[in-house]
Amino acid sequence: MAKREEETITAIHYEDVKKFFKTIGYFDKLSKKKLKCEVCGEVLTFTNFRALVIQKGIFHFCCDSENCLPNFAACIRNNVSIKEETI
Ligand SMILES: [Zn+2]
Repeated sequence: MAKREEETITAIHYEDVKKFFKTIGYFDKLSKKKLKCEVCGEVLTFTNFRALVIQKGIFHFCCDSENCLPNFAACIRNNVSIKEETI
């Protein structure tokens, strides 16, 4: 096995989502629908946000689609289609 990037996949309860996004400073971006799922490109909301990965200090988000979560980890590992949103 090749050495793995340090990564953290976090699933968060809906109740904690708002608090969490305030903590990381992305609350405004989420509430203004400026964050997208890294896999399918769906606009994220407080209800469809499912998971994130913090990689090299950059946040990557994933929606709650059944197809996205499994692909999300692979996507991050391969560094495929990771785009920084410039807002
Ligand atoms: Zn998605």
